[in-house]
Amino acid sequence: MQTQNLGYPRIGAQRQLKKACEQYWAGKIDLDELNQVARKLKEENWQTQLAAGIDLIPCNDFSFYDQTLDMSLLLGVIPQRYAKVLAEVKTNKETDLYFAMARGYQKDGLDITAMEMTKWLDTNYHYLVPEFTAKQEFKIFSEKVFADYNVAKQNVGLKAKPVLLGPVSYLLLGKEKEQGFERIDLIKNLVPVYVDIINRLRQQGAEWIQLDEPCLALDLSKKDKEAFEYAYRAIANRISGVKLLVATYFEALLDNTTLAVNLPIAALHIDLVRAPEQLDEVLALIPAQLQLSLGVVDGRNVWKNDYEKSLALINKAVAKLGTERVIIAPSCSLLHSPIDLEFETEIDPEIKNWMAFAKQKLTEVSELKQIVEGNDALLQANKIAIESRRSSQKVHKQVVKDRVAAITEADATRTSAFPVRQQLHRERFNLPSFPTTTIGSFPQTDDIRQLRSKFKKGDLTLEQYEQAIEQATIDVIRWQEELGIDVLVHGEFERNDMVEYFGEQLDGFLFTKNGWVQSYGSRCVKPPVIYGDITRPKDMTVRWSKFAAAQTDKPMKGMLTGPVTILQWSFVRDDQSRDITTKQIALAIRDEVVALESAGIGIVQIDEAAIREGLPLRKAKRSHYLDWAVGAFRITAGGVQDKTQIHTHMCYSEFNDIIEQIAGMDADVITIETSRSQMELLHAFAHFEYPNEIGPGVYDIHSPRVPGTEEMVTLLTKAAALLPAQNLWVNPDCGLKTRKWPETKAALENMVAAAKEAREKISVEGVI
Ligand code: GLN
Ligand code: ZN
Repeated sequence: MQTQNLGYPRIGAQRQLKKACEQYWAGKIDLDELNQVARKLKEENWQTQLAAGIDLIPCNDFSFYDQTLDMSLLLGVIPQRYAKVLAEVKTNKETDLYFAMARGYQKDGLDITAMEMTKWLDTNYHYLVPEFTAKQEFKIFSEKVFADYNVAKQNVGLKAKPVLLGPVSYLLLGKEKEQGFERIDLIKNLVPVYVDIINRLRQQGAEWIQLDEPCLALDLSKKDKEAFEYAYRAIANRISGVKLLVATYFEALLDNTTLAVNLPIAALHIDLVRAPEQLDEVLALIPAQLQLSLGVVDGRNVWKNDYEKSLALINKAVAKLGTERVIIAPSCSLLHSPIDLEFETEIDPEIKNWMAFAKQKLTEVSELKQIVEGNDALLQANKIAIESRRSSQKVHKQVVKDRVAAITEADATRTSAFPVRQQLHRERFNLPSFPTTTIGSFPQTDDIRQLRSKFKKGDLTLEQYEQAIEQATIDVIRWQEELGIDVLVHGEFERNDMVEYFGEQLDGFLFTKNGWVQSYGSRCVKPPVIYGDITRPKDMTVRWSKFAAAQTDKPMKGMLTGPVTILQWSFVRDDQSRDITTKQIALAIRDEVVALESAGIGIVQIDEAAIREGLPLRKAKRSHYLDWAVGAFRITAGGVQDKTQIHTHMCYSEFNDIIEQIAGMDADVITIETSRSQMELLHAFAHFEYPNEIGPGVYDIHSPRVPGTEEMVTLLTKAAALLPAQNLWVNPDCGLKTRKWPETKAALENMVAAAKEAREKISVEGVI
């Protein structure tokens, strides 16, 4: 039996790569120094995997920015606009080109935009989307994969397994940049280059090559399936002496099982953490010879593997295939887990004993193999840890479980239907038509950040810190009043992050010191860990909302993060369904909503920024997800009286296929991101005749650009043509946390002016 790893985090346990890249971009270190950091990281990672006893160790999983961008460079898929970088840049041509594609290029009179970035399947990792033209040509352009293979061989004595994104997924995860062709049809031109790459690697000595084909676990069209059959047959016909391993992950193969197991390859990897149930069908259909790599160690979470569970799967596979045809592996690349648990010196030792980061996961893979070979002591030690978690009082709180079990439909339903509530809100708040508001945060200046870090270090007392935050809050309230905003916010200056802020105050969450995971390029995130049943020991936001409300006569929105977003941006428990964990969070947030209401706050916004991105990869699973996700939101909002106005906010607002469920949330007001699409995204709402109030963003907050008043009036006019004007609000796309003050002030002044103009120009029925 063999073990393998599919990919290792490259950012470095001390985020060395992040720091080196940022220094290189700032001109503080040169390319040699950057390359030295990279080489050291690669070698350390290989040594770590060797020491753990992994048999097939990847190379080319390292990347300075993103492995999909590396593929585009390898295959020569370089959009025309970057030709100028190559032509005009004198030194470090390839590196400058690479970072130009990743980050854009503004230097020496050139101003070239970056490639589009999007989420890697259902992870929080972002990749750079390959851009294809109708006459797209492919040729080997970058030497990185070949160089990586040699470095592993020469410096570490390792016959590594080069990792490439497979040809079909590479095309499917890209985008057509002109009309008149389908990118999947490029497969015929693409295959010969893969053949060349594989043959070169074989000549260098590679025995295994890993081709990642995550799209094999997605819904595929007939044409996509044919492309898989064609590509792999064409490649197999033109290579020999090297074994191909196709890796799938994040979902089950389902209707693609027959296709996948019959590809002319040496081994297939399947994700048995996400989809353990697929093993039976794969084993039933697997042809003789094909080796099966069992992804049993979760590459996307932080928990210790339950060896008994994994062994059940492994033994089942061994019974059918024999040990020679079974490979044990993590479920996917370890890119998505934090690096080394040993750095976490402050986690409660009892809980730490239930956890595993990337380095520990390698050991788990190797221990599973040793257990199959008879090492019973390892199994017993694991059982003790798993049992301690299963029965720990730190995890299990009967009151929470009982409360979740007792949730009724009535808990998730407002007392009266929306029209009744709307009337009450009109009377209570007496807002003009086209009321203006913002999404919550105002610029987090260096001053504000420093306050927080000084307070954390103990350089400021709680009193000094709170006084400074109060002053910032007062300033931003005065400023909103002067500007003439109708529904005010307090600015969220007391919050570091919209999830962390709540996680820190809820029981059942823990925070790591060093649990960084790459999000994109040099950006890393440190998600909270949900380890136990969730309770809310005390009010979380009431103090600040009450303080803010007392500063003004205008309505002040209370500001909360919704349960799905908290779940989505955390490492979650793997010992209960996401659905149950979300309900627990929902109950905690519900109590906070009620507490705000009791404190006199009339309007409460519950942000569900991430509800859309949590949508499952497979269409068949979406309605179940939406049921519980929408249900959780309704629980948070269902505890208040009719007179309280509930807002929600969502960032990515591509709602065409889920508009019914969005309406099902029954928020009194929803604010969404629509300015960049020029209100395109509103069509779903219009077509559905969305009944509640809605604030389509009129100001793109992702850029420092200040939109003009007329531009925003045009957007509002468009919106009013699609939806009843009396239901429209005027607001930016999202929070203003990442912006600077000058542009924020200018843009919001224009926004208020636009609302005034809309009130004069656009007729509105039914508003008092
Ligand atoms: N209330 C949050 C803010 O304004 C919402 C952020 C978000 O949607 N990502 O920052
Ligand atoms: Zn947003």
